[in-house]
Amino acid sequence: MVDEPSQVSARFRPFGETIFAEFTELAKRHDAINLGQGFPDFDGPQFIMDAARDAMAKGRNQYARSIGEVELNERIAARFGMDTGQDVDPAGNVTVTSGCTEAIAATFLGLVNPGDEIILMEPFYDAYPVGVAMAGATARYLTLQAPDFRITEDALQALVTPQTRAVMLNTPHNPLGRVFGHDELEAVAAVCRRHDLLCFSDEVYERLVYEDARHTSIATLPGMWERTVTLSSLGKTFSLTGWKIGWAVAPEPLTAGVRAAHQFLTYATATPLQHGAAAALDAGPEYYRQLATDYRRKRDLLAEGLDSVGFEVYLPQGTYFIMCDHRGFGYPDDRSFARFLTSEIGVAAIPPSAFYSTPGGGEALIRFAFCKGDDTLRAAVDRLRKLRA
Ligand code: GLN
Repeated sequence: MVDEPSQVSARFRPFGETIFAEFTELAKRHDAINLGQGFPDFDGPQFIMDAARDAMAKGRNQYARSIGEVELNERIAARFGMDTGQDVDPAGNVTVTSGCTEAIAATFLGLVNPGDEIILMEPFYDAYPVGVAMAGATARYLTLQAPDFRITEDALQALVTPQTRAVMLNTPHNPLGRVFGHDELEAVAAVCRRHDLLCFSDEVYERLVYEDARHTSIATLPGMWERTVTLSSLGKTFSLTGWKIGWAVAPEPLTAGVRAAHQFLTYATATPLQHGAAAALDAGPEYYRQLATDYRRKRDLLAEGLDSVGFEVYLPQGTYFIMCDHRGFGYPDDRSFARFLTSEIGVAAIPPSAFYSTPGGGEALIRFAFCKGDDTLRAAVDRLRKLRA
C-alpha cells in the first residue's frame, strides 16, 4: 500500500490539483496581486446579503427542497423566460445546484453513459474534461485557433462519431473572452440537430458582455430547447463567487438526468443563500447595465496597461478575463512565465496550458482576471512595468 504512487482513483489521477488553487496559493506565498483565479476582491450588493441574513434569522436553516427553493426556481424561470422568450416551468425545468461546477458534474453524470463521446472546445474550462471522465466518457477536442478562435461547422462536424452524445459549449468563453456569434452558435446547432446530439451550454458570464457583442443562449435556436441543458450561476453576475449557487435549465427529460445525479451529489444547496439568490434575481435591468459598464472600464484599464508593457492582448468581448500572448518576453512556456510573474513581478496570472489537452497548447498564452478594484488593477499594471526593463 505505502509504496503505491498515489491513492487517488484512476479517474482523477490525471488531473492533479486545479490550476486556480495552485496559483492562488503561490500568489499568497509571494504576496502577489492575484489576477489568477477569477473572483472579485469586492463584495456583492448589500441587499442580497441582507436577504440571506434575514432568511437565516427567520429559521430557513434546514434542508432546502432538493430541486431548489420555490422562490428561487421561480425567479430563475422568470429571468430565463424574459431573456429567451422560452416558457420555463420553475418546478419542471429548473434545478438549483451548489455552483455551476456541481451543475456541470450533475449534467455529465446524469446524462452521459460510459463509452459516450463528448465534444469539448479547447481551450476549455478545467471542470469539463473532469466531468467527462467522471461519467466514464471520452472527450474529443475542437481546438479553437488564434487569433480569431472561431467555431466552424466543418471542424465540429469532423469530430462526430456514432458514439458522440453531446457538445459542450461555453459562451461567453472562459478563458478566451469570446462571445460566440449567431453564425457560430448556428453551426453548433446544425451539427447537434443533424446527429441528434445534446448540447450542454455554460453561460455563467452571460451578463459580462461588452460593446457590440450580444449573448445568445443556444437553447433559443430552432430545434435546440429540447436538446439543451443551459447552465448558469449567481457568482459572476452578483460578485458572490463564494456562495456557490448555480442552476441548470432544461426540458423535463434532461432535467430528470440532472436531478438524478444532483440528489446524490449534494441533495440540496444552502437554504438561506438560496433566499438571498432569489432577492438578487429581482434586480432590474439597471443593475445589469451598471455591472457591464463597470467591467468594461476595468477591462480597458487592464488591457491598456498590458498592451503598454508589451503584451499582445486579445481584447475580450465578454467575461472578466483577458488572454495575452507573452512571447515578447522570451519565456519558453506559459507555466514558467506565470511562475516568474507571480514570484518576481508580484502579479499572479493563470497559465492556459491547463485548458488544453494537446501538449504545447496554450504555451504562448497567459490569462489575467480583471474582476478587481480599479486601484488593484492600477497597482498590478505598475508592477508589470518592471517587465519593460
Ligand atoms: N471560474 C474561476 C476561474 O476561471 C475559477 C473557479 C475555481 O477556482 N474553481 O478563474
